[in-house]
Amino acid sequence: MSRLSPALLADMTEWRRHLHRFPECGFDVEQTSDFIAARLESFGIEVVRNIGHTGLVGVLRAGDGAGAIGLRADMDALHIHEKNSFAHRSQHEGRMHACGHDGHSTMLMGAAAELAQSRDFNGTVYFIFQPDEEHGKGAQAMIDAGLFERFPMDAVYGLHNLPGLPAGSFTVRPGSLMASESSFEIVIGGTGGHAAMPHTGVDPLVVGAQVVVGLQTVVSRSLSAIHETAVISATEFITNGTVNVIPSEVTIKGDCRCFTEATLAKIEQRMEAVVAGICQAAGARYRFEFINTFYPTVNSAAETQHAVSAARAALGNDMVNDSCDPFTISEDFSSMLRVKPGCYALLGNGTESVGGCALHNPNYDFNDGILESGARYWIQLVREQLR
Ligand SMILES: [Zn+2]
Ligand SMILES: [Zn+2]
Repeated sequence: MSRLSPALLADMTEWRRHLHRFPECGFDVEQTSDFIAARLESFGIEVVRNIGHTGLVGVLRAGDGAGAIGLRADMDALHIHEKNSFAHRSQHEGRMHACGHDGHSTMLMGAAAELAQSRDFNGTVYFIFQPDEEHGKGAQAMIDAGLFERFPMDAVYGLHNLPGLPAGSFTVRPGSLMASESSFEIVIGGTGGHAAMPHTGVDPLVVGAQVVVGLQTVVSRSLSAIHETAVISATEFITNGTVNVIPSEVTIKGDCRCFTEATLAKIEQRMEAVVAGICQAAGARYRFEFINTFYPTVNSAAETQHAVSAARAALGNDMVNDSCDPFTISEDFSSMLRVKPGCYALLGNGTESVGGCALHNPNYDFNDGILESGARYWIQLVREQLR
């Protein structure tokens, strides 16, 4: 596949640095979506705004093919004070593109520019620009706004950079690529009182301690060691007692990750059963809350094959790993993959000083050296899937 023109690459570097300079968070990405919409329109692409608040979709048709695919980038930044000193560092105090969504948006804009000019495919491409990935709400907001009904597509694809992988390398796997993320809060109510006379009440601290230990059996005794990988971490234990007063209430909070929705349902059910059983034995009350923020990111087999094929053609065979280990980080593109077949993949951001800094770190920067790799992957995917 041919390289992108130096002029387009220069534009992309400028767009990326502009977005980096003016990061916006959550659904409040008005300037960012204005900027992207203006670029897409300048390429002659029809733009539909306000799909899930600030989300937008660019529509590009060529030929008379009935096939359609969606390519998705995220637009939002993080509430982090940037520590970099380069010229394109954040001008928005306390906000920063520390996850590379500036780069994701730019790679997709670059692909849109090239495809709008070449129009050498047959069908419809939807360029999806999503707000609020970091809080896990943006993808679902776009779906709720009718994304897949208003823009009917056969499959949807996503791409995220990853520091620590060689620049421009492509990493993916069929099935579960990334974990779910859920939080839990368990409130145990007892009868507090004098520390010298515990037999007169119900000590929720002792009950809570048993609950923390009991939760350890969910992964080790209720889930398959081979098929149901999961992590449950109790991370906070809060009481209202003091040195000589037995508390009346204990709150246990924590976090949980796993790789399939079936495992997720089982974990929630088993956790509550453990809490209920221990509390009942002790005569304590409880409230159990389990909040799922991100579903597991599960790639469909055929679309993963399509992604791998496009990546091999665009980036070279030796740059593609099609059977990586799953990652315990999470991604709200998972919500789109619950509704549509598709594939989420990772693009190496580099291992050196440029590109090697971890995501969500105040010294992170997207590596402009991989802009072309990402755009070429998108272009190749469209050309192969919409023939
Ligand atoms: Zn992030
Ligand atoms: Zn991200």
